[in-house]
Amino acid sequence: MHPPDPYADAPPPQFDDMPDVIEEPTTSPLFSGFPTHQPTNKPPSQPFPPPTLDQARATLQRVFGYPDFLTGQTAVIKNVLHGRDTLNIMPTGGGKSLCYQLPALLFPGLTVVISPLISLMQDQVDQLREWGVAAAALNSTLPYAAQDDIRTAVYQGQLQLLYLAPETLMRPDTLTLLTNSHISLLAIDEAHCISAWGHDFRPEYRQLHAVRQYLPDTPCLALTATATERVRQDIRDLLHIPPEHEFIASFDRPNLFLAAEPRRGGLDQITTFLQAHKEEAGIIYCTTRRQVDELTAHLQHLGYSVLPYHAGIDTRTRELNQRRFSRDEVDMIVATVAFGMGIDKSNVRFVVHYNLPKDLESYYQEIGRAGRDGLPATCHLLYSQQDVNTLQRIMARDENGGQSNGEQGREANLRLQAMWRYAHNQQCRRHDLLGYFGETYGQEACETCDNCRQPAPAAETDLTVPAQKFLSCAVRTEQLFGMSHLISVLRGSRSQKILQKGHDKLSTHGIGQEYSKAQWQEMAHQFIQAGLLTQDLQYGSLKVTDAGWAVMRREETFMGTPPAVETRGMSEPTAVFASHRHPELFAQLRAKRTELATANNLPAYIVFSDRSLAEMATYLPTTAVELSHIHGVGEAKVAKYADDFLPLIRDFRQAHPDITPTPRPSTNASNHAPTTTNYTNATLPDGETAQTIRLVVAQQANRPAGVAAAYQVGYATQEIAAALGIKPGTVVSNLEKHLMETGLAIIPPERLRAESTLDTTTWERVRESFAELGSERLKPTFEALQEAVSYDDLRLARLIFWLEQA
Ligand code: ADP
Ligand code: ZN
Repeated sequence: MHPPDPYADAPPPQFDDMPDVIEEPTTSPLFSGFPTHQPTNKPPSQPFPPPTLDQARATLQRVFGYPDFLTGQTAVIKNVLHGRDTLNIMPTGGGKSLCYQLPALLFPGLTVVISPLISLMQDQVDQLREWGVAAAALNSTLPYAAQDDIRTAVYQGQLQLLYLAPETLMRPDTLTLLTNSHISLLAIDEAHCISAWGHDFRPEYRQLHAVRQYLPDTPCLALTATATERVRQDIRDLLHIPPEHEFIASFDRPNLFLAAEPRRGGLDQITTFLQAHKEEAGIIYCTTRRQVDELTAHLQHLGYSVLPYHAGIDTRTRELNQRRFSRDEVDMIVATVAFGMGIDKSNVRFVVHYNLPKDLESYYQEIGRAGRDGLPATCHLLYSQQDVNTLQRIMARDENGGQSNGEQGREANLRLQAMWRYAHNQQCRRHDLLGYFGETYGQEACETCDNCRQPAPAAETDLTVPAQKFLSCAVRTEQLFGMSHLISVLRGSRSQKILQKGHDKLSTHGIGQEYSKAQWQEMAHQFIQAGLLTQDLQYGSLKVTDAGWAVMRREETFMGTPPAVETRGMSEPTAVFASHRHPELFAQLRAKRTELATANNLPAYIVFSDRSLAEMATYLPTTAVELSHIHGVGEAKVAKYADDFLPLIRDFRQAHPDITPTPRPSTNASNHAPTTTNYTNATLPDGETAQTIRLVVAQQANRPAGVAAAYQVGYATQEIAAALGIKPGTVVSNLEKHLMETGLAIIPPERLRAESTLDTTTWERVRESFAELGSERLKPTFEALQEAVSYDDLRLARLIFWLEQA
C-alpha cells in the first residue's frame, strides 16, 4: 500500500515531464542495484552521552575563531547534538551552515549535506578546508578519478563533511556508499525546495524522504530561510520532523539599513546612491533582462566597475561574471533574480532593487545577500506603478501558459499587494517586514530604516546654529549681498565672484557644507520671515536686524522647520563608512589577502572576511595568540597565514610607535554604550550609534584621527566620549592633537562653539586673554579669569580660538 501523496493536488504542471515521485524506494527502478542488506557491526552514529554545548563552543572558537554562537544557533545545535531530527528556519545570513558544520566536528562519523547548487557547495568546501576541516563535494561535474578519491575517503572515514547534490545522492552507487559508511548526520540545506508551495520547488528534493528509510539511525537537520507555515509543514511531514523540533529564528537582520523611494528617472537615483557607495561591493536587481543590459551599459559608460547577469547570457560568461564578483574583481553586478542562489560572498555592502520585486519573500531573500559579515549594509528599493503592471502581466502569462490553478494566481496577487504596501509604508519598515513573516518587532522604531531616520517633518527644531552661521556670513560680507551669494560663501564655493571679492578668506567661508543649497534656501526664507534679516527690495541684499543680532549673540534661540532631507539614503549608516574606508594598514592587509587568494585560486573572503581584516587593522595583533582572538580566525588560519599578515602589522606598529592598539571591547558589552561618569545633561548615544562611532574611530590610523573623523561626520563631543568610554575633555584633547599633528582645520569652529557652555561675556574674556597672554599654555588664562573657568572648558575654547584663526 502506498501512503496517500500529500501533494496529489499540488504539483505545478511545468514538472509534468519529470519522473514521478518515488514513494517506495524498493519498487523504484532508480534504486535497482541497491543493497538489500544493512551492513552490520557499524559503530553507533551518535556519541553517547551527546557532546555538550561547552564542548561545542570550545570547538567554535578553536576552529572557526568565533567568540560565541549567533542568536538562534544555540538551540538548534543543542538539539542536533542530542541526535534529534530538527527543522531550522533562519533568515539568509543568519548562520545556518554552522548548525551542521559544528556538530559535524563533534560527531564520530560523516555528516552528509544535501545542497542544490554545485557552485555554492564548492565555495563552502573551500571555506571549510581553509578552516582546517576535512570536507569534500561529490558531484557529476568532477572527473571520475576525483570522484573515486572522494569515495575512498568516505569509505576510510577520512572526511567530516560530504556535500552532495540531490541527484548525486539518489544514484545507486552513492546510496550504497552511504549505507555502508558511518553517517552521523544528514543535513538538508534549502529544504524548502522539497515543497511545491515554496518559491523554488525541485522535484529531485521530493525523493529525499526515501533516503531516510535507508539511514534509519541517522538524524536529519533540515534548513531553510522560507518561513511560511505551508512550506514548513511540508518539510516536517515529508522528513518526519516533529513540530516541537522546529526552531524559527528571528528574521531581523539589524545590520541591514532598509529604504525605499518611488522611481523617478531611475538612473539618476542609482548614480546618486552609488556616489555614496564608491568601491563597495553591491548587487542591483532589475526585473527584465533588457533593463539589466541597459543599466549595465549606462554604468559602465560612467566608469563604474560592473558586470551583468541574467539567464539570457551564455553560461560561460555568466559564470565568469559571478566568479569575478565573488572574487572582488568587479564591484557590482546588475542582475535579474536569476542571480543570487550561488552567492555566499560575505562583504556585499548594498543591494539595490531597481524595480519592485514580486513579493516580500523574494525581496527578503535578495536583500539577505547583503551584510553577511555582520557589518552595516544598505538595501535600497526603487518602485513605481509600472512595476506592478509588468509583474501582473507576467503573472497572467504564467497562469494562462502554465494553467496554474486559480488559487495560486490569487495568492501571488495578494503577495504582490503586500509588497506594494511595504514600499509605500510610512512607518518603520522593520515592523512591516517582520510582521509579514509573523514576527512582532520588539521596539517602536528600529532607527535603521529610512522612515525611522526621517525627522518628523512638522515638528520645529532648534535652528540657532545655522541661523548664526547665516547671519554672521551676512555681517562679514558687510550686509551687501543677497541670499544666493551668502549661501555660496557658506557652502565654500570658489566661484570667480567669491574669489574676486576675497570672500574665500572669510571665516564663514565653507562653514555651512552640512546643508545643500536648497536646504539653505529653505532656512533662509524662514530667517527672513521671522524678521532676523530684512531684504532690500531693490538690490535683494540682506541686513541683520536687532532680532537677528540677539540670535547671533545667543541671547535668543531660533526654532524653525528643519529643511527637508533630500536624499534619504544620506542618513544611512554606511554612508559614514564609505567615506572612512582607507586606512593605510587595512589597505595593505587587503592587498595581501588578494595576493594570497589569487595564488590559491580562492575568493578573497574565504581567506579572511572583511571583518577579520578590519579587526586586525584595529586591534593590531602581533603574535599568533593575539591573531587567534580576531573574529573568524581559527587555529588553521593562524597556522596558515600568521607569517603573511603579522609582519605587515608589526611593520606598521614600528613605523607608528605613537599608536597604541584599540583595546578590544568585551563581547557582551559591545552592544551597549559604555557608561561614563564624567558628564551630565547629554544624550547618550544608543547602542547602534555608539557602535557606529567606534567603527568610524577604529577605521582611522590613530585615536586622534579617529575622534576627528567621528566629529567631522557629525557626532557631538558628548556622544563620542560616551561611545569610547572616555571623558569629553579627552575628546577635545584628541581633536586638538589631530589639529596640531596634521594642521588640518577640518572642524567648523561654530559646531564646537555651540557645544561650549560658556556665556558670551565669559567667552569674550577668554578670547581676549588668549590674544593677550598667548594660548600655548592654559594656566595664564585660568588665573586671569580667577579660576572661574575649568581647564576642560578652556581647552575647548582654545581649540575654537585656534580653528577660527586657521
Ligand atoms: P546562511 O546560510 O544562513 O545564509 P551562513 O551560514 O552563510 O548563513 O552564515 C552567514 C555568515 O555568518 C557567514 O559568514 C558565517 O561564517 C558567519 N557566522 C556563522 N556563525 C557565526 C558565529 N557564531 N559567529 C560569527 N559569525 C558566524
Ligand atoms: Zn524602522
